[in-house]
Amino acid sequence: MNRNSDLNNKERKKKRNIHKKVMAAAAVAGASFILAAAVLGAETEQYTGTDFAMDTVVSETLYTSGKDLNPEIGDMLRETEEKYLSWTEKGSETYKINQAKGKTVQVSDTLAGYLEKALKLAEDSGGAFDPTMGKVIRLWDIGGENPHVPDQKELDSLLEETGYENLILEGNEVTLKGGAALDLGAAGKGIGCDIVMDFLKDQKEVCGMILNLGGSSVMAYGEKPDQTPWRVALRDPREEESGYLGVITLKGGEFLSTSGDYEKYFMEDGKRYHHILDPETGYPVWNGLTSVTVICENGLLADGLSTACFVLGAEDALPLLEKYNAEAAFVDEEHNIYLTDGMKSRFELMKNTYTIRDSFD
Ligand code: ADP
Ligand code: MG
Repeated sequence: MNRNSDLNNKERKKKRNIHKKVMAAAAVAGASFILAAAVLGAETEQYTGTDFAMDTVVSETLYTSGKDLNPEIGDMLRETEEKYLSWTEKGSETYKINQAKGKTVQVSDTLAGYLEKALKLAEDSGGAFDPTMGKVIRLWDIGGENPHVPDQKELDSLLEETGYENLILEGNEVTLKGGAALDLGAAGKGIGCDIVMDFLKDQKEVCGMILNLGGSSVMAYGEKPDQTPWRVALRDPREEESGYLGVITLKGGEFLSTSGDYEKYFMEDGKRYHHILDPETGYPVWNGLTSVTVICENGLLADGLSTACFVLGAEDALPLLEKYNAEAAFVDEEHNIYLTDGMKSRFELMKNTYTIRDSFD
C-alpha cells in the first residue's frame, strides 16, 4: 500500500470515527440534526444544531433573519483545531512547535495572538495555568486509553523540563526550550468561542446566538428575539449530566467557562485522579474544589482562567479574577458555593443540598 492510500485510509477511518461520535452526541443531547426552524416575530428564525468538534459535543442555537450558519460554524471550529491547536495533527502549528526540538519556529499571527494571551495568563497566575504541560498531561493519559498514576521519577524528570518560562514568543517567532510540550487544551474551547463571536460580528442578519462546547465553554452573542437573558445551567459536579445545581445568566458578548474534576477522571483507592493538574507537583489538584466557573469578555481567557482558578483555590484566585475583570462561582466538596460580587445577581440556586456562602473564608 503506498503512502497516499494509507493516508486516505487513515483519513476515512478518522471521518468514520467522527461520524460515530457525532451520532452519539446527537443521541446524548436528544437533539435532531434536522434543524428546528420556528418563525419568531417578523422574520427571525431559530436554528438549533448539535455537532462534534474540538473533541466535544457542540450545541448551537442561532437566531437570524438569514440562513442557518450552524454547519459553517462547526467547520470553523474543526479547522481551528486542525490548523493551530491539535497536538496530533501533523499540519498544526502546535505540532510543529512541539517537533522543533528547541529550534525557533515561525507561526501565524493567529497562533501568536493566542500564545501572547496564554503566556500573560501563565505569568499572572504564577504558573497555575501552564501551557507547556503537554508531556505531563500525556503521561497521566487521563481521559485517554491508558489512564494511570505515573512513575514518580518519570513525572519528576518531565516536570523539570516543563514551565511556561520555556516558551518564548518574539513577534511571530516561537521557541520552546528543553523538553516542554505546548498544549493549549485548557483554553482551546474558549478559543473556539472567540472565533465564532468574531465571525458573528460580521453577520448583520444575526440577532443572537448561544454556543456551548461540551457544557464547559459557552459563548453568548447578541440578544434573543424576546430579549430575555441567555441562561446557562451549572452542573452538579457529583451528579450525572442531567443534574444541575443552578443557572447563570449571561449577556450578549460574554463567555463562560467551567473547569471541573468530573470532566475527565479515574478512581483508584478511593481517590479521584482528575484532569486539572497542579504544575508544581504534576498531580491532580486536590484542594476541596469540585468546579470553578468564570465569566469574562474573552473566550480564551474565560477558559484559561477557570483552569487557573481551580489550581489556585478560591482565595488566591480573587486578585487574578479582579485583574481580568472576571466573575466566578466556586463549588466545593462540602456543597458550598462561593460567588464573586458580580456573580451574585446572575446566579440562581436550584438545589437545596448546596449553600451559597457569604464570604470566601
Ligand atoms: P475542559 O477541557 O474539560 O474544558 P479545562 O479547560 O479545565 O477543562 O482544561 C483542562 C485540560 O487542560 C486538561 O485536560 C489538560 O489537558 C490541560 N491542563 C490540566 N492542568 C492544566 C494546567 N494547570 N494548566 C494548563 N493546562 C492544564
Ligand atoms: Mg479551561
